[in-house]
This record gives sequence, structure tokens and C-alpha cells, in this order.
Amino acid sequence: MKLIQVALPSPLRQVFDYRLPAGAAIPVAGVRVRVPFGRQALIGLVTDVVSESDVPAAKLKLVTEVLDIEPALPPALWTLARWAAQYYQHPLGDALSQMLPVLIRQGEPLLAPHPQVWRLTARGQALVPDGLRRAARQQQAWQVLNEHLQGLSSTALQALGVSREALLALQEKELVERIALAAPATAIAVTPLLAEAPLALNTEQAAALSLLTAQTGFRVTLLQGITGSGKTEVYLQHIERVLQAGKQVLILVPEIGLTPQTVARFRARFRCAVAVLHSGLTDNERLSAWRAARAGEVSLMIGTRSAVFTPMARPGLIIVDEEHDLSFKQQEGFRYHGRDVAVRRAQLENIPIVLGSATPALESIANVQAGRYQRLSLTQRAGGAQAPVVRCLDLRGQPVQDGLCAAARQAITETLARGEQVLVFMNRRGFAPVMLCHDCGWQAECSRCDARPTLHRDPVRLHCHHCGFEQAPPRHCPSCNSSDLRPVGVGTERLEQALIAAHPGIPVHRVDRDSTRRKGALQGLLDEIHKPGPAILVGTQMLAKGHHFPRVTLVLIPDVDGALFSADFRGGERLAQLLVQVAGRAGRGDKPGQMWLQTHQPEHPLLVTLLSQGYIAAARALLNERQLLGLPPAGYLALLRAEATRADLPLTFLQQAAVEIVQGKYGVQAWGPVPAPMARKAGLNRVHLLLKADDRKTLHALLATLVPWLDALPSARQVRWSIDVDPQELQ
Ligand code: ADP
Ligand code: ZN
Ligand code: ZN
Repeated sequence: MKLIQVALPSPLRQVFDYRLPAGAAIPVAGVRVRVPFGRQALIGLVTDVVSESDVPAAKLKLVTEVLDIEPALPPALWTLARWAAQYYQHPLGDALSQMLPVLIRQGEPLLAPHPQVWRLTARGQALVPDGLRRAARQQQAWQVLNEHLQGLSSTALQALGVSREALLALQEKELVERIALAAPATAIAVTPLLAEAPLALNTEQAAALSLLTAQTGFRVTLLQGITGSGKTEVYLQHIERVLQAGKQVLILVPEIGLTPQTVARFRARFRCAVAVLHSGLTDNERLSAWRAARAGEVSLMIGTRSAVFTPMARPGLIIVDEEHDLSFKQQEGFRYHGRDVAVRRAQLENIPIVLGSATPALESIANVQAGRYQRLSLTQRAGGAQAPVVRCLDLRGQPVQDGLCAAARQAITETLARGEQVLVFMNRRGFAPVMLCHDCGWQAECSRCDARPTLHRDPVRLHCHHCGFEQAPPRHCPSCNSSDLRPVGVGTERLEQALIAAHPGIPVHRVDRDSTRRKGALQGLLDEIHKPGPAILVGTQMLAKGHHFPRVTLVLIPDVDGALFSADFRGGERLAQLLVQVAGRAGRGDKPGQMWLQTHQPEHPLLVTLLSQGYIAAARALLNERQLLGLPPAGYLALLRAEATRADLPLTFLQQAAVEIVQGKYGVQAWGPVPAPMARKAGLNRVHLLLKADDRKTLHALLATLVPWLDALPSARQVRWSIDVDPQELQ
């Protein structure tokens, strides 16, 4: 008896056995099947064909339907899926379902249906010109089709005023027929490919391009170029060569919504179709982009993290832009790292991959040092712009008003007086992070989290950024009834308000998640910002990514101290990346830019190294620290998280895990269990157990046995738990 094993969209870490109808063809791995599951009918993918099952034969259910002949995913992607599910310890069925468009999961055909057209039959073509004059509408329909003998779609006919009734009547008379067009030719070659002339490369760019284009098989290149050094131009010319060779290119970028300019540059350069894949697509749009990529009908795909799973018929190149960006790591459910999966994919497809960044992740730098990745550097700004001058403003003993010291305020005034723009970077939205009673010291707290809600003024509310809970701020202190409740600390709204008051008549643009919630709002703000004349931009992280603000000549960062003392071991790396990225926004035009940092720690070694020697030197120092501590990339981590309403349950569960790890002598250290940095969030008590090994093999050997063991524990059913391999945030 032949049985198939099926991966189903289920949280269970297992595949399910089914019988095939007698005489049925045996589907190959990766083919979609519809099967009964409990009271549901589910669609899953065949993983294996076996001849025995642990399930008693009488209980084995029959496959309802085999949906396809060919597998849903090309072979390399299928292997990648199985690898990723195993590597990230995620149920295969659920991982696969995240890789496929919703409509494919629901059973829509893998291939786009051929477009249907109406056209005249031979009999219709033989008709005399006024043969239908007694039926005016049919006569008109016939005339239109007689002018378009190759056929027209229903939509086109409708647009030409042809009624459906008339067509059906003509069909009845066998004068017209409805037929499917032949399959569209794959690899639609667009000639000429270029819509604009490429720039003449500078020496560094040309050297990088010639090394990149010299390779065809698998090879990882770290393209490390300061902001504005022309990495994008190098990608464009590399891509051009790959497209000319008839291959497809996949580009991963951090967040499409934040980088419309990047997408626009690819569209401006090439005349071929560009598929943009992001979370804002409708199910139908996603389905057609996926089908087109899979069939090889579209050659250039740009997308965010999940686009790494886009099937390609003719893979030629993968590019991961801003490879250090945190958004490449999925922080829940299937916790994969888009960049790392992309590297593995390039290896399986045997194609080159380029990781680009001005501030590469320490992991990537370590991979260069170990000889696994090749490094290409661009050290000069292309187009002649100068790199900004960075300096610290020592806050010690200085009066600070609305987050800014006197020197900073003066610099803003002077910059505006020259008709230039100022960017104030504050990574905290809202008006103030704390609301405090001046009489008794009471502070507003979130009732569901160990956190303080942020005070917002636009509109007025106390909003917990951790659980989303919102409430009206109290008018009187709940503790002493005083009405002297004060906002403490500075967020973007407060800065905006203070800057408007200080600089009447100067436009102040605030860019954060609140001000850009409305569709098109970000684009509107960006358009305003690009108008000439003095202006102030106040913004969060959103401003640090990918935008070019050529008119900004002064960047101010009011608060870097918080990040210098972050509890997360990656805090220093993230701060260094952020500072360099923000600095990169300034002075891209003809005028040089400056960046000023307000700090109480101007002698902090990280700041000193970063400002005097640059990112790579700072990264080397941080790598040395990680080496000493055995932390990534010098060590390998997995984080077990557990949470429940009752505080003791997650603790008990993770204690059992810790004991098992120690007693099992796996060579993996278990740190904890300890309360999570935010021990209570949205009403749940959260506990962490951090696992650390000196090498990846050891860690994965443990996980392979530990995870099923944990799954079987009775205490596992009383908590919500998860495992995060290569965690990026220890929260
Ligand atoms: P990056 O991606 O490294 O930030 P970009 O590719 O966006 O850099 O280039 C920065 C600016 O320099 C852009 O305005 C770009 O058009 C320009 N540029 C890039 N390469 C060249 C070149 N070879 N000659 C002239 N200008 C260039
Ligand atoms: Zn009070
Ligand atoms: Zn909360």
C-alpha cells in the first residue's frame, strides 16, 4: 500500500498520513492535496511517499483530491522550506503555508488561466458586411470583431460598447466563439531593456561591478559602501547584466512603504515589468505576482522579508539591501531571518547573492573575516557630495529645554537662517514618555504591562506602545488628587510643538508612525520636505531608512544616552548603525552636512571610536567584546520564551527545560529561566530561558531533541511558548 505524508497548516510539529485511492497516480513531493482533517477539509503539500504508517490502517483517511501534477514550489525552494522549518524549529506545514499566497493555499490553480477572448468564427468572417442589419446591436458587435480578427477580451469589448447579449446571440448563431489564448511566452525579452542611460561608474564602483559580474555560481558578497557611495547604481548595472542574460533577479529591501524612492529607481532604469511584493498587496495581486515570478514571466522582483520565498523559474541573482536591518528577522511565529534564508537559498539555487549596507551586521563582518563572504568596499560618496562632520555636544551641566541644549538651538536657528533644512532625530513618538504628579510622584502606568504609557497630544490620550491600550489621561492625580500632572521627557510631538513655537513661519514636518498612519500621508510629507526653503523635520526611525534629504545640512540627535546603556547585548551595534544611517541622510546635495549628538557621555568608547575612526572600527571593537563573552557571532543562541496569565506556569515549564538541558550534557548552556525584560505584557507573565552554544551544530543537535521533548510535556499545554533561533531581540 502506498501512503502519502502531508504537511498541513497546523501548529503541530508533524506530518499526517493519508491513503491514496486505489489505482491513483502517486503524487511527487511538493504537490498540493486536499484532505479531511477532523471536521475540516484542508489543503497541504505532500512531503513523502511511504508504505507504512503508525496509524492503524482502518483509521487512515483517504486523500480527497490531488490538486496538481507538478509541485507548488520549484525544487530549490522546496528544499529551502524544509531546511528553514528545521533550522528555525517551526512546524513545516505552517512554514510552507507562510511561503505560499493565501489563494494558492485555498486551492486556486498554480498557473494563471489563459486570458479568454471573443472572436469571429470562420462563418462569422464569411458574413456579408450588412448581414445583420435587422439586429443593430449584433451588427455593431460583428463590426467591432471584424476590425479585431485576433479577438478581444470581454472587458475590451465592453469598453467598445458591445453588449454581452449581442455576443451571446452571435455565439448562438455560431458567428462568434470564445477561446482561450495560448500560454504567454515566458521570458518576455524587452528590447531595449534600459529606459535611461546608466551612470558612468567611478573607479571603486567599476571595480566592484567587474568582480560581481565575473561570477555566476553561488558566492556571497558583502558590498560595504558608505551612504551615498553609489551602491544602488552598482546593483542596477549588475542587475542589467543578469536580465540581459535572460535570468530573474530578486531584491529584498527592509520596508517598501518607507523606501518608495528605491523602487522608483528600479522602475526608472528598466523597461521590463517590476513586481513589488509587500504586505499591502491584495490576495489577488499577491497571487498574480507569485504566478508571474514562478512562471518566469516577470524578471525583476522587489520585496520585503517574505519575498525571499518568491519562486523563480530562471534564478540569476539575489540582492539584500540594508542587510543589517532588523526588519529582516520575523519576530513571531515562523521566526526566520530573511537575509540568512536568502543566503541559503542562493546556495541551493547556485547563484550569487549580494548583501549591501553602509553598516553591515557584525555577523556579516565576521563572515568576511572567516573567509566565507567576499567583501567589496565603496569608500567615497558618488556624485561628489561630502560625508557629514559628526560631533558630540556635552550635555553635562547644560540647561536643556524641550530636549535641546542652547548650542543645539542656536545651530538650528543658524541653519534655518541660511535657508537650509534641519533634521531632528528622536526615536520616541508621542508627546512625553512619562506622565507624573508633581506633588506626590505618582506615575501613570499601564494596567496590563510593566510599562508606562506614553502621553500623546495629537489626539490626547495615554497610549501603551507595548499592548496598544489607550485611555484618556486623568485630570487629577489618582493618588493625591493634585491637578499638577506633568509630562516628563520628550517625544516627537513635544519637539514638534517646541520647534514650531521657536521658529514661527518655518514649516515643521513630523514623520512618525502617528503622522503617517493615513495612506499616502508619508508621501505627502516627503513631497513637502523636498520643496525648497528652510524647514525642520522631526522624525523617528522612519526617517533613518533609505530617504535622501539633499536640503538637510544639520542633523541633531537629542538623546543617544539611553541606547548607550541598553540591556541588550546588541544595543551598541544598533546605536552605531543608527547614527551612521541618520548621518547619511544629510548633506547629499552640494553643501556639506553636520550631525550633532547630545550626550552626557562624550567619552564613551563606542562614541569615540565611531566618531574618530568610523563604523568598521567600532564594529571591530564590538566584535572583540562579543568574542570575549562568547556571544553572537562568536557563539550561537536560541531563546525559549514562555508566557501565561499565572506567573508560576511559565517558570515551571522553563525550569524543566533547563534541568533537561543540564542533565542531558548537550554542551549547551542554559541561562535562566529569568523574567523577560518586560516581565508582564498585555496581562501575561513572561519568562525567558536563553540557550548558548559554542557552535551551531551543538545547538541544533540539542534543539532537535529538546523541542519534541518540550512538546510532549504536560506543562507545555499550560503556557504559550516559542523558540527563537538566532534571536535578534532578547525581549
Ligand atoms: P547608496 O545606495 O550607496 O546610498 P546611491 O546609489 O543612492 O548610493 O548614490 C548616491 C547618489 O549618487 C545618487 O544620487 C546617485 O544618482 C549618485 N551616483 C551614484 N553613482 C554615481 C556615479 N558613478 N556618478 C555620478 N553620480 C552617481
Ligand atoms: Zn499625586
Ligand atoms: Zn500595556
